[in-house]
Amino acid sequence: MITFTQALENIKKTSQCLSQVKDTELHQALNRFAGSDIYAPISMPPLPNSAMDGYAINATDWSAEKSFEISVVCAAGEPPKQIINNQAARIFTGAIIPKGANAVIPQELAAEQNGKITFHQTVEKNQFIRFIGEDFKQGDKLLSQGERINYAEILLLANAGISTLPTYQPLRIALLATGDEIIPLGTLWEAGKIFDSNRPCLQSILSQWGAEISFTKVIKDSYEDTKSTLLEAAQLCDIIITTGGVSVGDKDYIKPVLQEIGELTTWRVNIKPGKPIALGKVNDTPFIGLPGNPVSALSTLLLLARPLIQKAQGANQQHIDISPWKIRANFTYKTVERQDFLRARLVLPSNQELSQASIEIFDKQHSHIVSSIRWADGLVSIPANTTIQPNDLVEYFSFQQLIR
Ligand code: AMP
Ligand code: MG
Repeated sequence: MITFTQALENIKKTSQCLSQVKDTELHQALNRFAGSDIYAPISMPPLPNSAMDGYAINATDWSAEKSFEISVVCAAGEPPKQIINNQAARIFTGAIIPKGANAVIPQELAAEQNGKITFHQTVEKNQFIRFIGEDFKQGDKLLSQGERINYAEILLLANAGISTLPTYQPLRIALLATGDEIIPLGTLWEAGKIFDSNRPCLQSILSQWGAEISFTKVIKDSYEDTKSTLLEAAQLCDIIITTGGVSVGDKDYIKPVLQEIGELTTWRVNIKPGKPIALGKVNDTPFIGLPGNPVSALSTLLLLARPLIQKAQGANQQHIDISPWKIRANFTYKTVERQDFLRARLVLPSNQELSQASIEIFDKQHSHIVSSIRWADGLVSIPANTTIQPNDLVEYFSFQQLIR
């Protein structure tokens, strides 16, 4: 039996990128990982422009009594124009500041007199001007290789005028449930059967991670079905994920099949939920065998398989590594030999002060209780052989961190 930390280290050390980099249109890059560092081809803003509808003048030319002749109109989208002393430009938001001007006066503060314009309030140089490169400068690194592309990254790249970029292609995943008792959703229920809850749940997370489920089925508890399905999956996919069938029961065929057609590197991890997790290969295709219980399958996917899958997808170390938050417990709990990951919730005090937050745990922590996942917003880690008292600091991983 190995510890969680050892298992995680092994996984991080041995996993590698399995995805190819291809040029991708920006709108299709959502949830992918950047295939290279991306630099800004232009500065933003690219030229100084007006933050207001109003008038542009030279601030040193201003006095409260002085009236200005409006010599030019500057609208957004037009090329740069010019003014000289005693002149003002009528200007609109986003328009380039004309040569000779260095301040914008909002139109509410301007007064018109005999076709000329006066500004009674003090005008400061640079007021209401958006400057070149205020947001980012030409050549700035906008994205690092292996960074997840989300809505904010799409906004940033679009703002820089980047329409295509190299991204890691979606990983093709085989997602397989096992068990004679497991029936796919949409099948008529009969006594003795249970609905497959693992594939729909895991598929939704894997899709959010940008992977494609290219092959999926429920494997019967038989040596032959397990073997032929795993061989087919290895042909079609970059990674194989199974749930169930990795214990040591008579009907658990993953282990003996893998010993015949592949290899098994890690077997038992000292955590609850999810002790039986198998890592290995079928031919050259990485294999992850998650436990069957839905809570265990989900927890081990997030805690142990995530680094392997995301590394395979091209994620960089920064994306993969997550640090738990240290928060005060408001529960009592005792572990024995195994490290427990409890379904937990972050509770804010009535003043919403994060520093005074505490952690609650669900009252039923058995690995078949799926409502615990629905109730929780994360997992709290309790080391083996530890007693937690209220106010002790515990390590909390939010689902948001784990599913990003
Ligand atoms: P196993 O690891 O195959 O012994 O499965 C452990 C427990 O998880 C058993 O109670 C199974 O019925 C249950 N289980 C396995 N696979 C699934 C699944 N896909 N959906 C729901 N429950 C499952
Ligand atoms: Mg089973």
